[in-house]
Amino acid sequence: MGYTESFEPAMRLALAAAAEATGTGPEENQDVPVGAVILDAAGTVIARARNRREIDRDPTAHAEIVAIRQAARALGSWRLTGLTLVVTLEPCTMCAGAVTAARLARLVYGAEDPKAGAVGSLSGRSCRRARADSGKLACGGVA
Ligand SMILES: [Zn+2]
Repeated sequence: MGYTESFEPAMRLALAAAAEATGTGPEENQDVPVGAVILDAAGTVIARARNRREIDRDPTAHAEIVAIRQAARALGSWRLTGLTLVVTLEPCTMCAGAVTAARLARLVYGAEDPKAGAVGSLSGRSCRRARADSGKLACGGVA
């Protein structure tokens, strides 16, 4: 199993979380489907979240932020050292900053976001380059 393939089960969980964003309920509560999970070093799921901007009326309730808050609560610490964030869409500037602030060990994302993505797309750098620059960012991909 390759490096990217090893994150496939987590990416599937993140995709399932994303699907919940467009589930039942009134249209004004429908969120853009983005999902995220946070894994510990053993691969155990510590947090699982989806975009909640509309339903929570919260501009910062991106899937990554919600998952990071969940993981911090679960661990009783804001330091998410050694953990991996797996998200279906390339993080925006806010979420990329939160990944750094939370000291996450690794970031794996699915689709690139040429409009708002802040890891590879916006900066014009490749994922490989971002990884080399920060020493901790990695990128996965789902077809
Ligand atoms: Zn974001």
